[in-house]
Amino acid sequence: MTEALNRTDGRREGSMVETEAATEPMTLAFEVTVSSVQELSPNFRRVTFGGYCLRDFGLNEDTLDLRIKLMIPSLAPDGSALPLPAFAMESEGWYREWLAMDPTLRGSMRTYTVRQTRLDAVYPEIDVDFVMHFDEHGRGGPAANWALNATPGDALTLIGPNNRADRPQGGGYGGIEWRPGMAQRVLLAGDETAVPAIAAILESLPSYMTGQAFLEVPEAGDFLEISSPANIQITWLARGAAIGRSRPQGELLQDAVRRAIRVPGWVGIKASDEGPGKEPEDINVDKDILWDTPGRLDARAIEGSRNPDKPSGALPFYAWIAGEAAVIKELRRYLVRDVGIDRKQVAFMGYWRQGKAEG
Ligand SMILES: Cc1cc2nc3c(=O)[nH]c(=O)nc-3n(C[C@H](O)[C@H](O)[C@H](O)COP(=O)(O)OP(=O)(O)OC[C@H]3O[C@@H](n4cnc5c(N)ncnc54)[C@H](O)[C@@H]3O)c2cc1C
Repeated sequence: MTEALNRTDGRREGSMVETEAATEPMTLAFEVTVSSVQELSPNFRRVTFGGYCLRDFGLNEDTLDLRIKLMIPSLAPDGSALPLPAFAMESEGWYREWLAMDPTLRGSMRTYTVRQTRLDAVYPEIDVDFVMHFDEHGRGGPAANWALNATPGDALTLIGPNNRADRPQGGGYGGIEWRPGMAQRVLLAGDETAVPAIAAILESLPSYMTGQAFLEVPEAGDFLEISSPANIQITWLARGAAIGRSRPQGELLQDAVRRAIRVPGWVGIKASDEGPGKEPEDINVDKDILWDTPGRLDARAIEGSRNPDKPSGALPFYAWIAGEAAVIKELRRYLVRDVGIDRKQVAFMGYWRQGKAEG
């Protein structure tokens, strides 16, 4: 039997599961505590979460861009964190159950990337790198505020994959989008929210891969050390926040991708004004989540692949692009419509939306 999220038996481990694989849930809630907090750069703060329950965490493979949910606690009037109300993780409907709770008590659910893990250690740990985003009045969202004030010993619940669940290789848990398939040349592009994912992907690439990675961050102080066994040219782009002349969000990233992936030369000299690719269906990024990935295309088999007979990953080039939704939408139009890239070879992901809280 899987236990409900908030255990009443006094033990701190988040989840206990039966040994029969068939009964293992895909997802578990892990009650972890902050082990340490590290200032990585002016706009990145690493929070390390630890807990013996993390022995059950993961997919038994590289974490790549593995996403998790953090349950950011609500605050009591005195500023202390309120405990998360109990809900049953063993139930398929745990998310609906959580949503139905009193919003002032249930906290805020936010999506983050697993930057690094040390799951085999005596005390297993996970690193999450938070972007410290605050508006001109110093106001941040619940997650940024929580990370700013996080100190060792603080408790938090994270929701992630159960490593004992029985899942087909590469399937069953929708938390990883990086699927290059047979591609040997790759493009990675993202803003600061995608830096943890791009860094983790780069570190685990095979040495035969080549390509480029573009990372746009607020300022040059945010350029982090990233290494890769692959032959990838890594380019950091600073909007310039530190010098007071910040370029608009996504402008540098768009320029860099456009320079790296050119519109084919025959466009423009062709008689018809038809471009190389179809206009992708429009997405209202203020209403809907921009999440256009090969996995989804495979599942929905929608129009848009120039090679409908081939599954995603069968071509030599693959791209992974994530960041502010309106910026990613523009890049999607450019790459799909103007360049004519096969949509089954690109993951486009709106990681956040300017002016809109997650959830
Ligand atoms: C799959 C996935 C993985 C992600 N991984 C990471 C990660 O590893 N690290 C990380 O920091 N973020 C990551 N994000 C982005 C993160 O979920 C959002 O930035 C989220 O909105 C932050 O929550 P919040 O409570 O701080 O702000 P919210 O309450 O969601 O938003 C409050 C306000 O802040 C604005 N805002 C939100 N994020 C930013 C930002 N980065 N810069 C400027 N303004 C912002 C919103 O537009 C809104 O106006 C990821 C998102 C996804 C979908």
